[in-house]
Amino acid sequence: MAALNRLLRARGSPLCSETCVRSLCSAVFSESQPRVPPSISRHKSLPLCRDVGDRNVQWVFLGCPGVGKGTYASRLSNLLGVPHIATGDLVREELSSSGPLSRQLAEIVNQGKLVSDEIIIRLLSQRLEAGEAKGESGFILDGFPRTIRQAEILEEVTDIDLVINLRLREDVLLEKCLGRRICSQCGGNFNVASINIKGENGNPGIYMAPLLPPPSCASKLITRSDDTEEVVKERLRVYNEMSQPVEKFYRNRGKLLEFDLPGGIPESWPKLLQALNLDDHDEKQSAAA
Ligand code: AMP
Repeated sequence: MAALNRLLRARGSPLCSETCVRSLCSAVFSESQPRVPPSISRHKSLPLCRDVGDRNVQWVFLGCPGVGKGTYASRLSNLLGVPHIATGDLVREELSSSGPLSRQLAEIVNQGKLVSDEIIIRLLSQRLEAGEAKGESGFILDGFPRTIRQAEILEEVTDIDLVINLRLREDVLLEKCLGRRICSQCGGNFNVASINIKGENGNPGIYMAPLLPPPSCASKLITRSDDTEEVVKERLRVYNEMSQPVEKFYRNRGKLLEFDLPGGIPESWPKLLQALNLDDHDEKQSAAA
């Protein structure tokens, strides 16, 4: 693959091994990608979105911890028929596997730090390769890239069409992380936080109703070990230091769509679809919910 050889020759940084770039490269390149479903390819006017030609969309979700990347990425993945790939989920899967990486990762994650670029790219490559073997194409990435180096490696190996940057004020992010609950049985995500902040000094208020579990999950709720106040504050600090520059990286390339969440899912989801010119998919909106 000529492009791969070119990129390996050109690549100067020692941060990530040649093998890890190569494996990501082979995972995202595919000779014959299926065509975009007609309903999606009609949306040529997606803001900042490149014409994706004859392949499925390749989108990225950016945003601070707790902003709701997983919620909206997963809904869009249902709507567009592409896999939602969250690197945080890949890390947690590895953590629960008691494999050789597990202890090392637990220490990093529970301190709110970032896993090394090399490890994260290896986990992502494995996930993309497994997906490709099952016939998946396109993706919505959630939580990747989180460093400039990761963004550069991704850019070296494939085209990202659109980057959606979800934004929410920091005090709400903290409350949302502390209120997050997961059903240990079905994996469902819920939130017990009730957010109701009045608007002041010209800033709009924000209301987010709790997302409560059904009775069948209520007694099985667990909290992520990195959702403590101390660790969330560190994750927000790390985001501002390491990941905010990634927003600028994509802004400079004209690919960033900034989206200020106006409230909870009922208020935000229709507005996000509108921003993406996908709001005429009425029947699909309910299917994705
Ligand atoms: P998340 O579920 O996205 O909040 O991710 C949970 C944790 O996994 C993060 O706090 C990091 O320790 C690690 N992680 C996830 N994605 C990445 C990434 N792209 N780069 C480095 N570390 C990551």
